[in-house]
Amino acid sequence: MVNGYTMNKEQLIAAAKKAGVVGAGGAGFPTAVKLNANPEYIVINGAECEPLLKVDQSLAEASSESLIEGLNLLVETLGAKEGIFALKAKYYGAVKALNKAAENFPTISIKSLGNYYPLGDEQILIYEVLGRIVAEGGLPLGRGAIVVNVESLMNLRAAAIDDRAVVEKYLTVTGEINKPATYKVPVGLSVREIIEASGGAKIKDLAVINGGPMMGSLIEDLNSPITKTTKGLIVLDRSHPLISSKSRSLTQMMRQARTACCHCYYCTDLCPRYLLGHRLYPDKVMRLSSYATMGEKGDSEFIGTEANPGPSQVFLCCECGLCELVCVMGLQPWRLNRELKARLGPEAAKAFKKLEPQKVNPFREFRRYPIPKLINKLGLESYDKLSAPLTDYPSQAKKVTLLLKQSLGTPSIAQVKLGDRVKKGEVVATPPQGSLGSIIHSSIDGKVEQVLSDRIVVTAD
Ligand code: SF4
Ligand code: SF4
Repeated sequence: MVNGYTMNKEQLIAAAKKAGVVGAGGAGFPTAVKLNANPEYIVINGAECEPLLKVDQSLAEASSESLIEGLNLLVETLGAKEGIFALKAKYYGAVKALNKAAENFPTISIKSLGNYYPLGDEQILIYEVLGRIVAEGGLPLGRGAIVVNVESLMNLRAAAIDDRAVVEKYLTVTGEINKPATYKVPVGLSVREIIEASGGAKIKDLAVINGGPMMGSLIEDLNSPITKTTKGLIVLDRSHPLISSKSRSLTQMMRQARTACCHCYYCTDLCPRYLLGHRLYPDKVMRLSSYATMGEKGDSEFIGTEANPGPSQVFLCCECGLCELVCVMGLQPWRLNRELKARLGPEAAKAFKKLEPQKVNPFREFRRYPIPKLINKLGLESYDKLSAPLTDYPSQAKKVTLLLKQSLGTPSIAQVKLGDRVKKGEVVATPPQGSLGSIIHSSIDGKVEQVLSDRIVVTAD
């Protein structure tokens, strides 16, 4: 019960769906689907293990009471045994605020995590928090838990209690920027506009990463809009090694791999999924692809066995990028894995026999990758010192571009037409009946200026 407010599971799922709540980072899994479960544990993912991003830790500190109330609502509504808010011990302010807010909630606890990368990966998080190993290619629910992102929890609470749709997004703007900050901005603002509102870039030849330095991707067009899953904008000089690494093509990398991969095994030794006991061996995938073909459909060399899963093991990769960081030759096994996933296709992913490891690698504890070392290797020390505090967004949106695909699943279909007037929070697009996706709402009051196959543009009144 929250402030005398109760609801059942069906009502909670309906509220999440109506409000368009999705995972607020990563692929944007629709939260309503995740809630259709009977978990033993609800784990809030506040690990925020990517350097420079400050959204979850800032929210956990500034909105600790609402978040704990929201978590309590989830625990009660889904009938879970416990709600666990997991975040790094080094987020002192947030840990303190959450512990205080949770004082009167006996079924809620705060779990402090170490300062390692990656921790936010759901499979790693479940092991760190519950000591349970998620099956290869499995979901945390298979181990009795669902994992919800901090901002998604906030949105879920707003949807359930205030009937509020997801129309705003928290993100950190940092790097070569005059005023680094963490803002709440309307969904659909352009990257360029947000950079300008942050005092502009300090450099001329800039490149921007969407998300964290490890898993984020390069933004090709600064006029592109932010979505419900944008977590950060990192502005760097185009000559920064991180930008060069993200700009390298797969062909270039594979050409280098054929001559430079010395099969040292470091990428496997440090791979967090391998260390969980999963049969993922990035060095072997590199070797296979360097000397064999690249997983064309029907290629018999690419059909694995139980003992050696062959290239199907790429479906176990979470693309955390750690293998690149530890590779003595600067190669990118994760990039090859991503390509092979696409080439092998969803049928191969389904056909791949997943196993349930019984124990983690005995050296796992000693091979976790410390964040200070990661920051140093990435050449981000000077940016790590920037504070990027939670700040009111200093500008008004004049126009928003609402992409019709902002979550995992099928793109939504426009429900408005050119010239329609819309209010903030009004539905502008819905996913096709019965498909996975999320409802899109207007993030400002205004007039529909464009309806295209992939977006709706609204100009402010
Ligand atoms: S760490 Fe690099 S060089 Fe060593 S096996 Fe892996 S890809 Fe090859
Ligand atoms: S990206 Fe590399 S280190 Fe990370 S899970 Fe995949 S293979 Fe392992």
